[in-house]
Amino acid sequence: MRDEVEKWAREPMDWMKRELDGLANCSLERSLRNSAPVALHPSYIIRGQQQLLNLASNDYLGLSQHPLIIEAMSKSLSIVGAGAGASRLVTGNYPLFEHLEVELAAWHEREAALVFANGYMANSGIIRTLVGRGDVVFSDQLNHASIVDGIVLSRADHARYRHNDMKHLETLLEKYRHKERKLIVTDAIFSMDGDQAPLQELIALKREYGALLMVDEAHSSGIYSERGEGLCHALGIHHDVDIMMGTFSKSFGLYGAYVCGSRTLVRWLVNKARPLIYSTALPPSIIAGILASLSLVQSEHWRRQQLNANSVLFRSFLREGGYVIGEGDSPIIPLIIGDNDKALRFSEALEEKGIAAVAIRPPTVPEGTARIRFSLSAVHGQQELAEAAETIIEIGQQLEVLKR
Ligand SMILES: *Cc1c(COP(=O)(O)O)cnc(C)c1O
Repeated sequence: MRDEVEKWAREPMDWMKRELDGLANCSLERSLRNSAPVALHPSYIIRGQQQLLNLASNDYLGLSQHPLIIEAMSKSLSIVGAGAGASRLVTGNYPLFEHLEVELAAWHEREAALVFANGYMANSGIIRTLVGRGDVVFSDQLNHASIVDGIVLSRADHARYRHNDMKHLETLLEKYRHKERKLIVTDAIFSMDGDQAPLQELIALKREYGALLMVDEAHSSGIYSERGEGLCHALGIHHDVDIMMGTFSKSFGLYGAYVCGSRTLVRWLVNKARPLIYSTALPPSIIAGILASLSLVQSEHWRRQQLNANSVLFRSFLREGGYVIGEGDSPIIPLIIGDNDKALRFSEALEEKGIAAVAIRPPTVPEGTARIRFSLSAVHGQQELAEAAETIIEIGQQLEVLKR
């Protein structure tokens, strides 16, 4: 016992190393790798000496290197300076914020909008303002980790329903019928599967059971509907969604997040959302960049059309090559492999052939569903995608993911 304590005192972090070695043994250790951008060419990245076709980022509209956004950001630096200096509730609330929030609310045809520092902080901060101990959150089993963390922080009961399974959700709603405050929360497009939530059915259920509905449009804002308003808007149900959340980190090619809804909701969040209250406002230059990006998102329809054409084409190439590819029209295309080690080897083989795509493993996805996640961009060329698909099919045969 004494020896144990002494050993512990000598090497208090030994357990960490042991657990990490365990992860490494199951091909589950993660590590940080350098990926340098290729100036003005968002469809490529540089790793080591190699230029890779980037099928791994979430820069769906190819805006991350856009000269107008870069210009707006650099211009604003000389006017508003580098940092905000304080939380928005203190002195960090420079006028660009209001400007952006007015535009966001108009774009989504909602009363009000509120900008957050990023999607993770928005989700983890918002949910705990909506429900607390004794309440209940109904959450799709495949929802993003930031939603799960928000639920945990809220201390509400966590009723997870099977992915997109409305029957299961209804059973749970029935079970918790007596609860006063209920929240249903879902991704609009699921980040690791690329499929859509059944939003119309969710609205019918939220009405029937008197629940609030929160929709995370991180992977659909900018992509769906005429001016990129998102999936709720494309389906014409945006007025029925109580809390709509989107990010500027994916289609917008930048950083940050926002919430749209009623004036009361925004007033509530300003008073209660801890990531907004207790964290410094985004640097002003980011907001200037987001405004420039928003205007491109709204007006450059060709980006959405090209992205959609690329998604359809890439899916059909992979299907022709013998892969079973899930339904949907989103730019997220998973290749389910199952085995962690094989998924890792697949991604290494892709990299050797000049393609960047990550092996997504548990706990990001359920056990036994390790996968390669391809994500497309409007700026990928169709010839590039055709060649990439050929490589992906060849590797699939070599690794016996595909039958010959
Ligand atoms: C990426 C993502 C987030 C987090 O957004 P960040 O701005 O990157 O923090 C939240 N929800 C979903 C569904 C996401 O995919």
